[in-house]
Amino acid sequence: MRANADTDEDARKARELGAEGIGLCRTEHMFLAADRLPVVRRMILASTPEEEQAAFEELRKVQKKDFAAILKEMSGLPVTVRLLDPPLHEFLPRVDDLEIEKATKGLSREDEDLLRAAHEWAEVNPMLGTRGVRLGVVKPGLYAMQVRALMEAADEVSSKGYEPIVEIMIPLTVTREELALARSWVDEVLSDINSRPVPKAKKGQKVVKRPKISIGTMIETPRAALRADELAEYADFFSFGTNDLTQMTFGFSRDDVESRLMPAYLEAGLLKRNPFETIDQNGVGELVFLAAQRGRKVKRSLKLGVCGEHGGDPESIDMFYRAGLNYVSCSPYRVPIARLSAAQAVIGTAKTKTK
Ligand code: PEP
Ligand code: MG
Repeated sequence: MRANADTDEDARKARELGAEGIGLCRTEHMFLAADRLPVVRRMILASTPEEEQAAFEELRKVQKKDFAAILKEMSGLPVTVRLLDPPLHEFLPRVDDLEIEKATKGLSREDEDLLRAAHEWAEVNPMLGTRGVRLGVVKPGLYAMQVRALMEAADEVSSKGYEPIVEIMIPLTVTREELALARSWVDEVLSDINSRPVPKAKKGQKVVKRPKISIGTMIETPRAALRADELAEYADFFSFGTNDLTQMTFGFSRDDVESRLMPAYLEAGLLKRNPFETIDQNGVGELVFLAAQRGRKVKRSLKLGVCGEHGGDPESIDMFYRAGLNYVSCSPYRVPIARLSAAQAVIGTAKTKTK
């Protein structure tokens, strides 16, 4: 039973409420903080490799602090850190707002640059666009910077007597080649960090050991589920991102469907449940079963979890248990009910077996 948490505060709450780890730390929430946004924008606007490197360096320092705070809170429990996922335009002002300002008041030079970038990164279908691991491909160095920040944070907290357990998660992969490439970026940073001396323990503390890192991916598209056998070759774990998996399987935009379409579908009886709340067992659920089987056929030890909203929904939890998942992860406040549901799923299955 894990929780989705992006800050040390969320992590503390999650632990208090019974979470046994963090199943999803969305690193974009650190990027969106008021003091980080200007640095993220500098990275996006960088016009030379030197400028980009300088922005990465600034981001690495602040991310390291955030990661250290979370790893301290979760000492002894696993923390799954997802590398950057959202499309970069989410970190820029809206094109329309800047165009209106340009037409009415005029723009500063800085805002002119932002407008250019906002046009450049705008996409017609951003949720199907440059996001997830694709960002890593078009912004080389971005994921390596995040991994470096994370590993430096792990070293720092280890030297203070905490026990970080780190899992690095690559979002939205759809092909074996993508995952192999992303894994190579992570491995490169890990081998560089491991070539450094292990940090010294403070007096009276246990000898510091570097944690073993696992590297996995999210299963968020039908293709990833269908090709789970190939992805398993390069993954130590899968986490089902059932929000995106539902969006991509139904072809329902998760950001738009709730206002008009979903109420109409539910009222007309076209759907019994909102599939973004309770997993659609016959469609999305089948992909989860299939991916679990195909992944484990290649790697028996493959750890499987879910970190979409469904991870806190009792009916969905029952299905995840039957699909063989090892854990569910949901928002901290849903942890107690999810624990109860997970226990009921286990007992329910045991009863069926003894009948
Ligand atoms: C998901 O898609 O289920 C997921 C957990 O990722 P996000 O909600 O951040 O897209
Ligand atoms: Mg997702």
